[in-house]
Amino acid sequence: MIVRRLPDSLVNRIAAGEVVERPASVVKELVENSIDAGASEIHVLIRDGGRALICVADNGCGMAREDLCLAVERHATSKLADESLSRIGTFGFRGEALPSIAAVSRLTIATRQPGDETGWALEANAGYKGEARPLAHANGTRVEARDLFFATPARLKFLKAAATETRHAVEAIQRLAMAHPEVGFFVGDGARPLLSLPAGGGDFEEARLHRLSKILGSEFARSAVVVAGERDGITLGGFAGLPTLNRRLASMQFLFVNGRPVRDRLLYGAIRGAYQGLLPSDRHPMAALFVDAAPEDVDVNVHPTKAEVRFRDAGLVRGLIVSTLRHALAGAAQRTAVSLPTPAAAEGAQTPLADGRGPLASSPRGRVATPSFPGLREQPAPYHGAPTASATGWQAPPAGEEGADPAQPALPLGLARAQLHATYIIAETAGGIVVVDQHAAHERLTQERLKREMAAGAPASQGLLIPEVVELDEGRVSALAARVAELEALGMVIETFGAGAIIVREVPALLGAFEVGALIRDIADELVGGGAHLSLNERLDKIIATMACHYSVRAGRRLNLSEMNALLREMEATAFSGQCSHGRPTYVALSLAEIEKLFGRR
Ligand code: ADP
Ligand code: MG
Repeated sequence: MIVRRLPDSLVNRIAAGEVVERPASVVKELVENSIDAGASEIHVLIRDGGRALICVADNGCGMAREDLCLAVERHATSKLADESLSRIGTFGFRGEALPSIAAVSRLTIATRQPGDETGWALEANAGYKGEARPLAHANGTRVEARDLFFATPARLKFLKAAATETRHAVEAIQRLAMAHPEVGFFVGDGARPLLSLPAGGGDFEEARLHRLSKILGSEFARSAVVVAGERDGITLGGFAGLPTLNRRLASMQFLFVNGRPVRDRLLYGAIRGAYQGLLPSDRHPMAALFVDAAPEDVDVNVHPTKAEVRFRDAGLVRGLIVSTLRHALAGAAQRTAVSLPTPAAAEGAQTPLADGRGPLASSPRGRVATPSFPGLREQPAPYHGAPTASATGWQAPPAGEEGADPAQPALPLGLARAQLHATYIIAETAGGIVVVDQHAAHERLTQERLKREMAAGAPASQGLLIPEVVELDEGRVSALAARVAELEALGMVIETFGAGAIIVREVPALLGAFEVGALIRDIADELVGGGAHLSLNERLDKIIATMACHYSVRAGRRLNLSEMNALLREMEATAFSGQCSHGRPTYVALSLAEIEKLFGRR
């Protein structure tokens, strides 16, 4: 056996396997270098999905001749000044990108430092490195990678269609652009522009929101809340979509740590935790969140592409995200993501990241579309019982409110004027009208009230005069039997009654004593329907949601004006009342301006 050192050219090719997976990785590395170089404008050209040519040109700091010659050498970097891996403030630090790209393409770099008499150009490819030669060049750097993977045909075979590779590359640029609104990004494929994001000036927060709306669609900007929090020197900023702006996939969640886009399971999990109870588990919110920590509190050197990070105190970061998001969303409880789509929303939906599957993307002008959730009863069931005012919890409002002035700013949801189809409350507000889905709203209020009562101790329960026996299959009986204590904490007292039945002795006072059997069956369905992996808290949330949903569907009935106004006032006072537990809006607001637009008056 003979042990020998591998030649540099081979080492670089092996490293390239990790760093350069596809054209998008080349684009990402080059654009990161341009941002690191302090560029304020970056132009990218992607030909044939990046196979023929990837060109990144910037107006950054440029390189002197000696630096240029070193830059394509392995582990040569200007970015680790004090040779410490614990304080990394730049994208790059491994000095691997340029040699790796040179190993799998024909690389040309042209560069000039401001103040230098001339610029310099250098070629390198598949193990060959040329001499630097003088070249007239503008300040900044232009890197061209041609014939990607020509030396590694195996990789070439795995590339997807040009359009797909281009899309991945544009998405990589969009991610970087979200974190750097102060930099202009312009991308084209040689025939047409693919992305045009001029640098934003002025207030950073505003510039960031503007940049996000250009990339995620303007509905995001209109339906997002500012997120801002800090804990032990770690800060969280950015924007989070209201729960009503939800998606089927989690791919519209963007996370950044110290300006670096990351896909980190800890952070995704924290977002899920924050929206728990506000969305069904198969829907996902939209968010762009930026975590900033002292470099010594995060390790970005976990993976060659630096897409993962490790926090010194992961629990702290998780807590910061959950509590800051909850706080931001509670503050926006009165907003829902629903308003009339504008032409700008359609424009935003064309960018690759805006997936166009959102609740608003396909709604025809003037109509509000909401995502549909199969299996949920949308129609109010016929009203059997007769819950009293105290059972519904809507106390009569102070007398004389009906005649009050709807223009009071203290009444964001306005004054009720009518009820339509025993389902919708129409209210007049200072600047327009509000349509409330009384079932969705009532469901939300009941849910929040159950939660509040539970947090304050056990919710009041009401004994049944005649305990109700509910027959169920064995699986459901044992699922319920395993949850006796949790249900009791919610005011529901049950016992098993032989193998095939449950006996219900007490129910939460809030829900009243009607249709107990149907409620128990719903809860049992919920318990056997794949809820086994959920945490105790998540399970309780689901049971509460089931109770609230069950109850409020039964409550479909005619309301008088006082009851309607009482409902509106309670919505105003309740956190998260802007959407039901399935993430659908509980009400829709139309401004006078929007109504005028519908009639072509504007
Ligand atoms: P890293 O970014 O990890 O330092 P790279 O191989 O990507 O490694 O780049 C090597 C070096 O080349 C950088 O440290 C930097 O000094 C220089 N460089 C690369 N791209 C540019 C650019 N666009 N402008 C100025 N300098 C650059
Ligand atoms: Mg780099």
